[in-house]
Amino acid sequence: MAEGSLRVRLLCCAPDHWLAPAEIAWDANGRIVGLRRARRGTRIRDLAVLPGLVNGHAHLQLGPLAAAPRTFLPWVRAVLAARVGETPRSFRARAAAAVTELQADGTTAVGEIDGTGLSGPVLARRGLAGRCYQELFGFHLDERAANALVRARHAVRSGALARGLSPHAPHTTSPALLRAAARASRFLSIHCAETAEEQQFLHTGRGPFADLLSELGRLPAGFRPPRCGAVTLLARLGVLRPTTQLIHAQHLERGDSATIRDSGAALVVCPGTIAWFRRPLPPVPSWLRQGIPVGLGTDSVASNERLSMRAELSAAAAAWPELPPAMVFAMATTHAARGLGVAAGRLRHGGRADCFAVGAGTDSPAQVLAAVVHGHAATVATWTAGRRTTALPR
Ligand SMILES: [Zn+2]
Repeated sequence: MAEGSLRVRLLCCAPDHWLAPAEIAWDANGRIVGLRRARRGTRIRDLAVLPGLVNGHAHLQLGPLAAAPRTFLPWVRAVLAARVGETPRSFRARAAAAVTELQADGTTAVGEIDGTGLSGPVLARRGLAGRCYQELFGFHLDERAANALVRARHAVRSGALARGLSPHAPHTTSPALLRAAARASRFLSIHCAETAEEQQFLHTGRGPFADLLSELGRLPAGFRPPRCGAVTLLARLGVLRPTTQLIHAQHLERGDSATIRDSGAALVVCPGTIAWFRRPLPPVPSWLRQGIPVGLGTDSVASNERLSMRAELSAAAAAWPELPPAMVFAMATTHAARGLGVAAGRLRHGGRADCFAVGAGTDSPAQVLAAVVHGHAATVATWTAGRRTTALPR
């Protein structure tokens, strides 16, 4: 890596903090050592530089499905079937290609759900920041088996990325596994209240998920449902805390958002996945008003057309038009970073030089943010830890 600098017409340290014209300089480790107004008489590039985007939730090893059902249970079965025939090499190759796709339009950090233990070093080698959560499944696991699984998975290396655990969801992980994960790691990522069938299963012990678990041999004999919704169950188990992120939250029940807010946990929504399954829009503006951090994520290409945080920004801006561009941008930067518990999503002295550029023209900061959020200004270059990962126009 080499030290470097950029002098540009506009620099967004955070949506409410801009420098114009500006100079950003970084050292050989990719750490920002200068962030200031540019001196007169120097060459200023006609660019606006913004903090790198933070993808709050992704599964970068998953590929597109051959048959791509748009309803959830058939989709789950297709995902399970697609794993057959995969190899460590194919998983690594797909994760590396996914990083290239994400970096191309401005993503520099990710919350990766690592199903195999192979993602961390691949992502770190490409300079990506963020957190790598080891995925945990096992609705049938008792305390002893849960502890053994958590010990093994928590020992997996994550390269330079921060570590975490992802007990998949309340209907696919046993209470013992959720508790064991929470004991082993402060940082948890959990799919939560994604479908009505998940809530039905937790309330009644019946429905399509009961059938699927029993077919997979994972419904313990004598199983008794908790008779509450997903959020209540997670709160009872003590796994809702400020370092927990909950993914999707499509089917929250009365009082759930207050429970989430009081716990300090964060939410992540994936507009591409919402469109894929033609789901109703969750009440993101209301969650934000309550003070819950709400990040954006791409999820995987098994339930999204592409891996592009710029596309997620545009979809979010279209889905919740009442949100100002600065708030939508915050969802893809500071809010997503808050959910991951990592220092990303803003440019500051000592932080990583993670940023992307768009053409600036004569636009004001507000106009640049609106153009970025609505997809009217293409990403022309991305830097991860000061290393340019896309060509810079002359
Ligand atoms: Zn997911």
